[in-house]
Amino acid sequence: MSKKQPKQRAFPQGNEQASKPNQKKILHKETLQDTNNDENTQSNHYTQFSNKIFKGSKYMPTFIKEAPGKSSCICMKCRDPLTGKLGQAMLVNSLLAHIKSDKHYANTDPKEHKKLQELITLLEGTKKNKEINSEDKGDKTDFETKSFLKFLGFLIGQNLSFSQIHNIGSYLQKAANEKGLGFLKISSFNEELLSKITRECFRPILIDGIINSLKTKPFSLSLDNATFSGEHFCALKVKFLDLEWNDELQENISTIKNKIIALHNLKESSSGKTMEEILNLKLFQTEEIKNNLIGIVHDCASSFTGSDVGLINLLQKAGKEFLTFETLVIV
Ligand SMILES: [Zn+2]
Repeated sequence: MSKKQPKQRAFPQGNEQASKPNQKKILHKETLQDTNNDENTQSNHYTQFSNKIFKGSKYMPTFIKEAPGKSSCICMKCRDPLTGKLGQAMLVNSLLAHIKSDKHYANTDPKEHKKLQELITLLEGTKKNKEINSEDKGDKTDFETKSFLKFLGFLIGQNLSFSQIHNIGSYLQKAANEKGLGFLKISSFNEELLSKITRECFRPILIDGIINSLKTKPFSLSLDNATFSGEHFCALKVKFLDLEWNDELQENISTIKNKIIALHNLKESSSGKTMEEILNLKLFQTEEIKNNLIGIVHDCASSFTGSDVGLINLLQKAGKEFLTFETLVIV
């Protein structure tokens, strides 16, 4: 004698029983269980009733109807567990659990079981896609946080100040918002190329800008001679006050500008006469600029201070008046 097996179902079974008026208490409890099973309810997010909940199914709207509560709906195939009347109300969030339940299966005409199975496949597929998307989002946030910390670590490792890091970060953020970072994929940061671009593209424009400022603004000049790899150079640096636009304050503010105007190769001679020629060539391009020089800072080298032949003397002899400051190291 073989024992009679319960009817097998092709899809996952819920806990609900077929709706019968004499099972009110049990069914009510199960309805709550359905609700708790749903992740949206656990996160206190109640889905509102709209056509979107049908996920394009034509079968589902034939038995799921809108209920008075905005987050509720009614299954017209099942009976209310409390009143026993046709039409079981539930939260929209509990819909999938209900449709998968044994109770709903039992209340569905066997001719519709295929449609019911297709509906469950459709709803579960949508839910799974949502979960995958949310996992992707989490992974992406983790990745972005790691990338941010990695970038910060790199900048700090370059001994940049917080202010410089702030400026670089703000520039990149603005460029990213304007979709202006595409150059990263196609450009090279080779040191020789950087030097060439600076020398041939930026330098002429920057020098023009500084020279124009010096025509109208009083400035001091720092001079220093140094030797790098056996070659002698003279560095000319100007310092002046200028107005600069401040994004945060939304107005121009006075800032001290420190600009290297030339790094001149001295070759063999570093006499005061040579220095004067360099100044005339690189700096004193107009009379206004000569007149705006109000001070010179130097390191007491003989080419600057030597009597008769020192640069300071030569300038003073030419009728130029300015203050001089002597320092051991010019930064
Ligand atoms: Zn139902």
